[in-house]
Amino acid sequence: MEETVSKNFIEREIEKDLEEGVYNEVVTRFPPEPNGYLHIGHAKSILLNYGLAKKYDGTFHMRFDDTNPTKEKTEFVDSIKEDIQWLGADWGENLFFASDYFDKMYESAVTLIKKGKAYVSDLDADEIREYRGTLEEPGKKDPYSDRSVEENLKLFEEMKDGVYEDGSKVLRAKIDMSSPNINMRDPIIYRVAHLTHHNTGDKWCIYPMYDFAHPIEDAIEGVTHSICTLEFEDHRPLYDWVVREVGFERPPRQIEFAKLYLTNVVTGKRYIKKLVDEKKVDGWDDPRLVSIAALRRRGYTPESIAKFVELCGVSKANSSTDIGMLEYCIREDLKMKAPRVMAVLDPVKLVIDNYPSDDIEMLPAPNNMENPDLGTRQIPFGKELYINRDDFMIDPPKKYYRLYPGNEVRLMNAYFVTCTSYETDDNGDVTVIHCTYDPASKGGNSPDGRKVKGTIHWVCAKDNFKATVRLYENLVDEEKGVYDDNGNVNINPNSLTVLKDCYIEPSVKDAKAYDRFQFVRQGYFVVDYKDFEADEIVFNRIVSMKSSFKLPK
Ligand code: ATP
Ligand code: MG
Repeated sequence: MEETVSKNFIEREIEKDLEEGVYNEVVTRFPPEPNGYLHIGHAKSILLNYGLAKKYDGTFHMRFDDTNPTKEKTEFVDSIKEDIQWLGADWGENLFFASDYFDKMYESAVTLIKKGKAYVSDLDADEIREYRGTLEEPGKKDPYSDRSVEENLKLFEEMKDGVYEDGSKVLRAKIDMSSPNINMRDPIIYRVAHLTHHNTGDKWCIYPMYDFAHPIEDAIEGVTHSICTLEFEDHRPLYDWVVREVGFERPPRQIEFAKLYLTNVVTGKRYIKKLVDEKKVDGWDDPRLVSIAALRRRGYTPESIAKFVELCGVSKANSSTDIGMLEYCIREDLKMKAPRVMAVLDPVKLVIDNYPSDDIEMLPAPNNMENPDLGTRQIPFGKELYINRDDFMIDPPKKYYRLYPGNEVRLMNAYFVTCTSYETDDNGDVTVIHCTYDPASKGGNSPDGRKVKGTIHWVCAKDNFKATVRLYENLVDEEKGVYDDNGNVNINPNSLTVLKDCYIEPSVKDAKAYDRFQFVRQGYFVVDYKDFEADEIVFNRIVSMKSSFKLPK
């Protein structure tokens, strides 16, 4: 078999299982709890599971792990589906809801009771915690653990029938109160909770606990490789116990990998939710977040996220990745795809005093110097232009090659111009820059071999359109770290800059939501799908051009 890329440890395990006939197919799944939006960490899990199913000609299941009605909402179910589809993980027919298995889970609990492996306890939550012991101390026997099978069956049925109040009774698995693994100390497997469920409505007033429900869900669906993150390693013996005792023929095999973390970035549904609820950000898709919805709105492509996940690799050791790597991936993805256009975000007027006409002329320009397939366009040029304020200095330092009095620069795709003078307002701020141009340098080519060191971009003052542009920095104040002493995020006060009077070349005027461009010298931008400022297009900066990030060798 030809193999150029080395396999990750999960692939090696799967291949071993297939060779040894432990399984003769591969079934994976992504099992989110619909209690928030997905984030970049979930993207890793989705693409990993989907990729494995594809690689081994297997099946990928999308399953909502919706067994806890307190935090789950249909809004989240919808957003999760949208995000996974966008990432390109196609579940086909295989869309499942754990809540559809409530009957089977109930039966499984009854099976355990009948085998003497589960009992109803009247201890309350505090007592259960106290009886459970600690890492150093074994747990104590639950005084209700000797109830007869008949009594347990009757009580459990009454729990289901709504006879008991929330919290007054639980069903516990009877395993081992002195196990060194606390998860095995007679874990609660069912609780009473009079709650309306988003899928099953008021049918149930008892709900299974995650550790009981989860392995049963995988087993019902015939999942072969149940891939999850490291924090579930200690739960594996319990999962194996459940599926064995309930009597599933071919239990799934769990393999754990390390979560994806980004340095100085808020990942974790709970923390993102807190920012959203406290209105510190503009909803789950605020482009400063790393929820998948936010990355999409920010202008990231599914391809760039897939590349990032691939570069991160799969490992057993926790580590934290520089967000620069994600930015690298979107730059690489857009480099050849995005048209390169001119936009002036902080405009100052440039007047060409010797330009002979008040009319405009059209000049050809390539849409992407590195990708001729994107073709060319015509851009308007005239006597009055806008340039970026920082492309001019009255009194420049050494090695400043852009415009200053007496200096000649190239206007990109247009002409050479030499600065002759400038005007200022009462504050000394520059209002107009004057220059002369060399008609012989049309197209930005030197007419006589003389060189200019600087090339600046521009937009025609007579023919352009105005837009709002949003620039982003990290949401987190990196100097202070992610969280303060109270667990609140240290927000970078400069994380969002809104520029209102930006001039963009007219070729972009009809841009639609999610269209992406390189604004030359300034970065990659996307048309925001949601906001329009007084009918003006709003562009989000996806990423700037420059980066200090180096791809690890
Ligand atoms: P969070 O920790 O952000 O609250 P979660 O683990 O509670 O996420 P679930 O909906 O339970 O979210 O997760 C669905 C799947 O995504 C699980 O298999 C989980 O292990 C995986 N997952 C969650 N966060 C990450 C991450 N940072 N990196 C890789 N996989 C992740
Ligand atoms: Mg969770």
